[in-house]
Amino acid sequence: MKKIQAIRGMNDILPDQTPYWQKVESTLHRILARYGYQEIRLPLLESTALFQHSIGETTDIIEKEMYTFSDRNGESLTLRPEGTASCVRSSLQHSLLMQGIQRLWYYGVMFRYERPQKGRYRQFYQLGVEALGSEGPDVDAEHILMTARFWQQLGLTGLRLQLNSLGSPESRATYREHLINFFTGHQNYLDEDSRRRLYSNPMRILDSKNPAMQEIIEQAPQILDYLDNDSLNHFKALRDLLDRIGIHYEINPRLVRGLDYYTQTVFEWVTDQLGSQGTVCAGGRYDGLVEQLGGPSTPAAGFAMGIERLIALLGEQNLLREIARVDAYLVAVGLLAKHQALLFAEHLREAIPSIRLQINYGGGNFKAQLKRADRSGARWALILGDDEIAQNTVGVKDLRSEQPQQSILQSELPAYINQQIKDRVE
Ligand code: ATP
Ligand code: MG
Repeated sequence: MKKIQAIRGMNDILPDQTPYWQKVESTLHRILARYGYQEIRLPLLESTALFQHSIGETTDIIEKEMYTFSDRNGESLTLRPEGTASCVRSSLQHSLLMQGIQRLWYYGVMFRYERPQKGRYRQFYQLGVEALGSEGPDVDAEHILMTARFWQQLGLTGLRLQLNSLGSPESRATYREHLINFFTGHQNYLDEDSRRRLYSNPMRILDSKNPAMQEIIEQAPQILDYLDNDSLNHFKALRDLLDRIGIHYEINPRLVRGLDYYTQTVFEWVTDQLGSQGTVCAGGRYDGLVEQLGGPSTPAAGFAMGIERLIALLGEQNLLREIARVDAYLVAVGLLAKHQALLFAEHLREAIPSIRLQINYGGGNFKAQLKRADRSGARWALILGDDEIAQNTVGVKDLRSEQPQQSILQSELPAYINQQIKDRVE
């Protein structure tokens, strides 16, 4: 049979990589808890209608990226392409909004039928953070601070914050008219994609990555010139907060974001180190979405982070240091030792709660077992043979130094190992 392969754009994350993922995940989770955000776990499958009614008809996701199919009942289902819609759906379904402002996060895979390339996959991991029920701009500022703290804790440098405001739906509508007028007058400069979007979603033209379009985009009217007073005040208040805290940002008037539900603040964290997939984190306000999905009028803000891109950036900055996965490997030579090995290992795990101990499976002579011990990456080989069993000792060989093997009383082994792994860097 022809070997079955993973689906294009869907990655296996192999054991040599998972320690990095776990490290990143636990760092993010710890920081989220420090801001009082709680985890919400949402289904991977939702009614297709949920996304159609939230993301926007003429967006990339709705036009061409969704994994949509009928189940056995003929109901149209979609593998979630993003998490905000599900999060709002769930909050409404379970009346969470009646209990006050919700500070939520979720973590998991999203699915988009895109052209796979570096930093762009068909299944990818996102961390999403949403605050439902607060107008900001304090929330907007705190989300930005939280993301800055992620970078700081992970040791990342060089990410730039880009900021823009899309204003209220009314100011956006006015701007839209002007933008259509402008681009209609310059149709010759537009590529096919943009011409198609001219009347349906002209703001997305500003997001075009086509180099040939950049000059005309530069000259297009800018949304910041069309904001109403409330929107201007909101944006100014956010910038004042960031200035006071000392967070640097660039105003990018062409930052429009790919989803229709955004209002007011939008932001992205970008890097030059990942080629054209340089946005690691993106978010903003979506004050109209809850109502649009049938709930009470509720201001909201959030952001989402692409974890593959984050890990790639950590790699670029040499921050993925080798994480040792085992401390000790138990070598058991001879029938007696082999019989005792499992129990001995259990005793050690009881006595040394933090030890990562691997036992030898399936026998083999001393040399072969020691070789496996070395390959496991363990620092020590713990050796049980007939002599050791007879004398209640264990041989301890430091595999990462030239020191000769020592013999330690079994009763003294926990204290010895504890002392050594106390300063282990996690
Ligand atoms: P892009 O313009 O790169 O397509 P987007 O605006 O579609 O991004 P969002 O929906 O805002 O992306 O998702 C938030 C983050 O999730 C992105 O900034 C990125 O880090 C990550 N992301 C989005 N799509 C993918 C993908 N196909 N593969 C990997 N990561 C992705
Ligand atoms: Mg996209």
